[in-house]
Amino acid sequence: MMFKHIVILTGAGISAESGIPVFRSETGLWENHRIEDVCVPEALIRDPLTVHEFYNTMRRSLPSKEPNPAHRAIARLQQEWPAQGGQVTLITQNIDDLHERAGSMQVIHMHGALKSIWCTACGRRFYWDEDSSPDSKCPHCGKPALRPDIVFFGEMPYHMDEISDALSDCDLFLAVGTSGVVYPAAGFCQYARAAKALCVEFNLEKSAVASNFHYGRYSKAGVTVPSFVEELLTSGKAQGWNEA
Ligand code: NAD
Repeated sequence: MMFKHIVILTGAGISAESGIPVFRSETGLWENHRIEDVCVPEALIRDPLTVHEFYNTMRRSLPSKEPNPAHRAIARLQQEWPAQGGQVTLITQNIDDLHERAGSMQVIHMHGALKSIWCTACGRRFYWDEDSSPDSKCPHCGKPALRPDIVFFGEMPYHMDEISDALSDCDLFLAVGTSGVVYPAAGFCQYARAAKALCVEFNLEKSAVASNFHYGRYSKAGVTVPSFVEELLTSGKAQGWNEA
């Protein structure tokens, strides 16, 4: 086996073929909203109802979305690679639940999750599958202090210690469907390269940080990721790896 620890970073592009719009559209809007109206801490103070409703709408739409072959291939790799003596760490910037529904058991949601809610009064987090509002009460402390458990721009992403440990230990780093614009995730490839990992990106086109990768596969993730995983599982390596 060629790679002992594979780290995979996914972004909005992996869920695009499942019908969830990516972040950076040509209009600069996210689901018809300006980022500063729904994805910054100030928005929650200025207009909390709009912020809750925005994430309610996305959460409500989840049951109508299905994982695609890219999500399923990553779940397969997580399940089968340990049998070959390896480890797979999956980090996602996505807030949807498609990795879990594809069968991934361990998913690091560095930007939070739609199916989680956070009480800003007592600090607890809860699994949450319904609508929320500024009046929703915390199931533990009873205070109306719940907010969507989403990392807004300007806030610290979650699980950074765990992510940093994984990046410094990995020998293969894969980035799938991420534009390379949102930091710190956009800088993960450089950490992986410092650990001497082979770095491969999967995207429709070169990302903003494509030059940091050894090479890329540029087509739909639903096609490129399953074929890459198949190559890894059958031969322990992937065609093109020696282009590095
Ligand atoms: P982004 O929208 O900035 O970039 C998406 C990238 O995916 C682009 O580079 C695009 O070329 C690529 N892409 C689009 N369709 C693809 C396909 N079929 N196959 C392969 N690549 C494809 O996304 P980002 O870099 O993840 O950053 C945006 C932020 O927005 C993230 O932090 C995330 O939390 C959030 N977001 C999440 C979701 C979700 O949960 N599904 C959706 C939109 C935005």
